[in-house]
Amino acid sequence: MLPPETINVYLAKNLLEAEFLHNLLADAGIEAFVIGGATALLAEVIPLAARAPCLWVRQADAEQARAILADYERRQKAAHPDTDPAATWKCAACGELVDEEFDLCWNCQNPRRPY
Ligand SMILES: [Zn+2]
Repeated sequence: MLPPETINVYLAKNLLEAEFLHNLLADAGIEAFVIGGATALLAEVIPLAARAPCLWVRQADAEQARAILADYERRQKAAHPDTDPAATWKCAACGELVDEEFDLCWNCQNPRRPY
């Protein structure tokens, strides 16, 4: 089980990401705990834990861990700007990617297709 004074600092997309971030934090000298994903026993206590793996760290490490995780997220977004569905939409007419805040394609003025 977890040591006392641990808090949840991150909800990972999958176990692979959770493991990666666990190692990232370990490199910074922070001991993190991955909860969820594959932990069947804990799933009985915390049903949410069965679905998405979370990273837990000691409260004393939380601030540093959050800074590292925020930095990781920034780099993820920078590395894959076109794959973030929240940030852009694809023009149905010309296929260009348009920023979320615009309702018309910057290239051909085609309106954003309603979902
Ligand atoms: Zn267009």
